[in-house]
Amino acid sequence: MAILVTGGAGYIGSHVVKELLDNGEEVLVLDNLETGHKEAVLGGKLFIGDLRDEKFLTDLFRKNDIEGVIHFAASSLVGESMKNPYKYYENNVYGTLCLLKQMVAHRVHKIVFSSTAATYGDPVEIPIKEDHPTNPTNTYGETKLAMENMFKWFSRIHHIDYISLRYFNAAGADQSGRIGEWHEPETHLIPNILRAALNKDTVKIFGDDYPTRDGTCIRDYIHVTDLAEAHILAFDYLRRGKGSNIFNLGSQNGFTVKEVIETAQLVLGKEIKAEVAPRREGDPAVLIASSERIKEELGWQPKYSHMETIIDTAWNFIKKHPNGYS
Ligand code: UDP
Repeated sequence: MAILVTGGAGYIGSHVVKELLDNGEEVLVLDNLETGHKEAVLGGKLFIGDLRDEKFLTDLFRKNDIEGVIHFAASSLVGESMKNPYKYYENNVYGTLCLLKQMVAHRVHKIVFSSTAATYGDPVEIPIKEDHPTNPTNTYGETKLAMENMFKWFSRIHHIDYISLRYFNAAGADQSGRIGEWHEPETHLIPNILRAALNKDTVKIFGDDYPTRDGTCIRDYIHVTDLAEAHILAFDYLRRGKGSNIFNLGSQNGFTVKEVIETAQLVLGKEIKAEVAPRREGDPAVLIASSERIKEELGWQPKYSHMETIIDTAWNFIKKHPNGYS
């Protein structure tokens, strides 16, 4: 039986596909390639299409023997979600509803879901645990929370077991340098720092007047290979019939924007120009996860999430792909 990975041509999805293949799993990838790259899919069978295309999705479920789903396919830019909420509700919430319809119809009862720290909103307690209140401050986080709630009810009513993985800041690239993070436009800090280093540009620091040790925002960066490993463990948890759960995924270490830039200069051995720019709307000062629950329940241990390793692997990918996958 196969595992269906929706959004498997995207940044995190493609790393999970690689881990699944390395573990000998049969993998089906569904991606509409709106933001994904077919070159990032290192194996398995790729189906190019959209969750909202009922005929396409019905055919896929009818013609393949699907054991469970790992669900990434979604729009995921916070800024865009605040300009175009329709797109986020339509693609994320309605797209997931279409998927659940097929899962119910074809008796597929396992799903691992790619969720986000954005479901929490502004933290009232640091580190953030899974029982922290969920008050998203943007449409993106709100749609991911809506999707989690859909799984909760489908689980109760249709016995679909789900694991929701709430990522903090995914970063880094596979050790091979074959796959990594490539978005156009890029909004994330680490790829922006590395592109600035590559193109002799200046990276912008969004605000240096936050109540933190150096005035810049603190985030919890987690290596994408450690994230991928968590999906394998989560799917295994479902296979063992352990039921549904929600887990945070972070490294429990906070880095300021300035510290990330300093580490990048050390790893790359070159100066990276940076300038302070206004705060970016909606950025909380500090986001750090408690990942104790997944460590205890799944035995997950991050192995690659030192900032040096994150930057080194991301740099290796960017040097090999200075113009992305094209
Ligand atoms: N950031 C920055 N310059 C950039 C991109 C991001 O200063 O070019 C900051 C951003 O304000 C945030 C942190 O870096 O405090 C991480 O941002 P990112 O977009 O990577 O992830 P987010 O935490 O928003 O999911």
